[in-house]
Amino acid sequence: MKFLVDSSLGRLSTWLRILGYDTVYWRGEADRVFLRMAERQGRAVLTRRKDLLARQHPGIVLFVESDRVEDQIVEVLGKLGLRPEPDKLFSVCLRCNEFLVEATPEKVRPLVPDYVFRTQKSFRVCPKCGGVFWPGTHRARALSVLRRVLYRGEGNG
Ligand SMILES: [Zn+2]
Repeated sequence: MKFLVDSSLGRLSTWLRILGYDTVYWRGEADRVFLRMAERQGRAVLTRRKDLLARQHPGIVLFVESDRVEDQIVEVLGKLGLRPEPDKLFSVCLRCNEFLVEATPEKVRPLVPDYVFRTQKSFRVCPKCGGVFWPGTHRARALSVLRRVLYRGEGNG
């Protein structure tokens, strides 16, 4: 599943990337060009604009009701019946939406702060911007979101 997200849902788009989904964040007006791009690239549209629901569009247009970003993630994944895979976490560049490639600690050593090099074991690099990513502090929150989504209604987890 790939997404096209309107400009009111910037934080949601970042979180979809953290969860490993190819997500384009649209900074302009959510107009006909926006919908055409979604159609051409086979992306599900996520929007806070109710008027888009009335437009003719062959693909998925989902109106996001929740205000808090964590609720939005749960809402979107739940409505679309998606179950993100834990090993896909942090597989997409948060800046460019490119799929990251694994890199050895030695290779990224000059690019990351010393304490990160000492405390992290797993690194990925973006082939487009050269950014280095590691699970770090986002991971606990990402996993808690995943737990909420995956085990909803199956206990308190
Ligand atoms: Zn990048």
